[in-house]
Amino acid sequence: MLPTTLVLEIRRLLDRGDLSQRAIAQQLGVSRGLVAEMADGRRGDHGRGAEQDQKRTSPYRELTMPTRCPTCGGMVYAPCRLCRARVVRAATLAAWRQLHEGQAPPRRAA
Ligand SMILES: [Zn+2]
Repeated sequence: MLPTTLVLEIRRLLDRGDLSQRAIAQQLGVSRGLVAEMADGRRGDHGRGAEQDQKRTSPYRELTMPTRCPTCGGMVYAPCRLCRARVVRAATLAAWRQLHEGQAPPRRAA
């Protein structure tokens, strides 16, 4: 069973209404079938409760379990911030190169 926080995040993105079911599934690393089931009410908004989670993790850890990022393969708390940061950085660099064609790219601060 999925962690409650993940189920609630799927619900939040569905209710926001600006992402497709496919996009939500991709972003959170869950199946499209699951998102579709939640969207048309075939599945309730219930997940693995905190009391079940405590059997799997120490009380000092987060109560949810990380999931495998479909893009970078890392174990992350979805959505993967590393992949998001990489996309933003690549776009920033591409925009910089367009503005400064022929010049050396900026050096990264140490
Ligand atoms: Zn990732």
